[in-house]
Amino acid sequence: MQMQEEWFIPISALNQYTYCPLRCWYMHVACEFVDNIHTVEGSLLHERVDTGEGTRRGELWQIRSVYLYSKTYGLVGKADLIEERSGELYPVEFKKGRRGDWGNDKIQLCAQALALEEMLKREIPRGFLYYAATGRRQEVRFTEDLRQETLITIDRVRELLRSGARPSVSYVAKKCKGCSLYRICLPRETALIKKQLTGRTRSV
Ligand code: SF4
Repeated sequence: MQMQEEWFIPISALNQYTYCPLRCWYMHVACEFVDNIHTVEGSLLHERVDTGEGTRRGELWQIRSVYLYSKTYGLVGKADLIEERSGELYPVEFKKGRRGDWGNDKIQLCAQALALEEMLKREIPRGFLYYAATGRRQEVRFTEDLRQETLITIDRVRELLRSGARPSVSYVAKKCKGCSLYRICLPRETALIKKQLTGRTRSV
């Protein structure tokens, strides 16, 4: 079954959603975005790699900034880099920081692989995340579990964008402190006010 065009979602929204559903809502429903040091560094890194150029060195063939789509899953997006080495083809996604604990980068990469598989009609068993802070590539295997998790996330993001309902999330210091939307979202302050209001209601 093919998805209707109006239900196509950006692959990058899967990353935002997995990091924090509210962040995805702010960016893709409320259309709010604020840069911080992390997002500016990330944009500069992508500017450097988004050249659209293809190169070949021996067995290695590389093409940068490749548009992707999947009619089956209703996805559109861009891969930073597609490589083919010794007959194996895979996506590489560039991230400016270090590997996080949230699984969001893997979901984004897996969605890129799903789109590539559909476009090229070949299996993509793995891809790589390149973290600029460490200068290392991390291999990501597109296991059945990761594929399932990615499909579930696609459904959840589509539902979020369709309904427009603001998700309710909790303040998580490690996550929220690095979030460029902190000053709009004020998650800690909101949690404190909610706590005070609940206490007041109980004492009435
Ligand atoms: S500040 Fe925290 S709760 Fe708010 S959008 Fe960012 S990560 Fe989500």
